[in-house]
Amino acid sequence: MTLPMVVADDTLPSAVTIYEVGPRDGLQNEASIVPLEVKAEFVRRLVAAGLQVVEVTSFVHPRWVPQLADASELIERLDLRGVADMPVLVPNERGLDRALAAGARHIAIFASATESFARANLNRGLDEQYAMFEPVVARARDAGVRVRAYLSMCFGDPEEGAVPLDQVVVAGGRLVDMGATQLSLGDTIGVATAGHVAALIDAFAAARIDVSSLAMHFHDTYGQALANVLASLRSGITTFDASAGGLGGCPYAKSATGNLATEDLVWMLRGLGIDTGVDLGELVRASVWMADQLGRPSPSRVVNALAAPSPR
Ligand code: MG
Repeated sequence: MTLPMVVADDTLPSAVTIYEVGPRDGLQNEASIVPLEVKAEFVRRLVAAGLQVVEVTSFVHPRWVPQLADASELIERLDLRGVADMPVLVPNERGLDRALAAGARHIAIFASATESFARANLNRGLDEQYAMFEPVVARARDAGVRVRAYLSMCFGDPEEGAVPLDQVVVAGGRLVDMGATQLSLGDTIGVATAGHVAALIDAFAAARIDVSSLAMHFHDTYGQALANVLASLRSGITTFDASAGGLGGCPYAKSATGNLATEDLVWMLRGLGIDTGVDLGELVRASVWMADQLGRPSPSRVVNALAAPSPR
């Protein structure tokens, strides 16, 4: 298998945690229902490839995301006390009830940095979203459950345009104050560029929010995701969200969101000598297997390059 030459940069972190979102963020965008056993096998293969954190499903109301209606059954089939950490998305208190009943030990909530997207996605204004999440976070923490907070539209919003840095820091700060232990800053529409990324991380640091509590969630819509990862590494970020095979970012799907492919991320980190614990060959095999289940090719450049017959 072709691999990049390793040329380490000792100004960058020596290890990175990949927060794998494929089974949830990726599959929730799939129109046709993926069988429960295929989902469980996909998660097992991702864990076997060395991914240490895999977000496996969402306890959103089945009416909104029928694809993930089997959240409780899926969790039952997985080993939540095994080698990998398996967080689940929880939209509200009802979702938390279901997640706790299923034995979840780590949840994620999904907030917005902009008023427009909070209204579009949560049917609530910014202040109302905090009111909705407060009891979710408090009850989860009381139950000894870790809480990650996604913050979407951190760089640009389809209706509001560029999002001011201060606005994002204030929104993120509210979630940290509430008790979120990790904040995932999402470039939901993929418009961030490297200087903007560095400026936002600096703004969080200036507000005394620990950079080690930040994760970055980039979309490759405009081809900037890896450049933005490199900028983040230079600013000390050590957790990155990515989706195996680029699931959720299929160019053939109308709902394309352009998730950064985990393989593309691992390839770059490997070349930089940054440890991820991931076996790239195993991961590519898992994504090719999943693409076969879905009946179409992965949009990941690295998956396609490595899975193709080698040229002679
Ligand atoms: Mg995403």
